[in-house]
Amino acid sequence: MIFDTHAHYDDEQFDTDREALLASFISAGIGNVVNVGASIDTSEKALELAHRYDFIYAAAGVHPSEVTELNEDSIRQIETMCDDDRCVAVGEIGLDYHWPEPEPDLQKKWFIRQLDIAREKKLPVIIHSRDAAADTMNIMKSEHAEEIGGVVHCFSYSKEIAAECVKMGFYIGIGGVLTFKNARKMREVVDQTPIEKLLLETDCPYLAPEPYRGKRNSSLYLPYVVKAMADIKGISEDEVIRITTDNAQRMYGLSEH
Ligand SMILES: [Zn+2]
Repeated sequence: MIFDTHAHYDDEQFDTDREALLASFISAGIGNVVNVGASIDTSEKALELAHRYDFIYAAAGVHPSEVTELNEDSIRQIETMCDDDRCVAVGEIGLDYHWPEPEPDLQKKWFIRQLDIAREKKLPVIIHSRDAAADTMNIMKSEHAEEIGGVVHCFSYSKEIAAECVKMGFYIGIGGVLTFKNARKMREVVDQTPIEKLLLETDCPYLAPEPYRGKRNSSLYLPYVVKAMADIKGISEDEVIRITTDNAQRMYGLSEH
């Protein structure tokens, strides 16, 4: 069964058919989903979904683009959510310099603060990092992220940076972009990274794989990513599914479930 390590089924794009869609997963070979929060509100919604569906787990955290909502009170809300036994990670947190706001210093401050929560709660982190490779690596090193562990999701950097992340014990999250024609850099990352360090993810409703690029994404399209990964690695699609699911269970601490 496929493990979708990063999805946003709380998104309003699923409002019309969420229940029917989620109900179709088991028969389509989708075994587990981690629904990831990006704000206080969506972290709460992720936990609601995780309580309603056995196969869904939640992550609680505030995305770098949303950190202006953070203060000590909202940090305490995240800490409380992390104590819920359906919460398996802190995320998504990190740095996103694609847009000028929020200013980098503010993003860094709350990235570090949320890394501290993960350390304290003994949960892995889901790192979102866009156009911010150097600062992300510097913070991961200075904060000893190797003691926390987790995934750099929707990985978009070079194979050299992927190797550094793997050396720190991190997993690399791979989604629909792998199927895009111009994804040479990402294919290099998948080729070079040991499959024991790769995770499957959708980031849905965003980043649908070919042939659905631009459409609403869902876990049902992950077999296209599996196929692309199997081709690069020269192994069967079943092997890709088995190993990446093991990886996800190990990272999220679900092996005993
Ligand atoms: Zn996401």
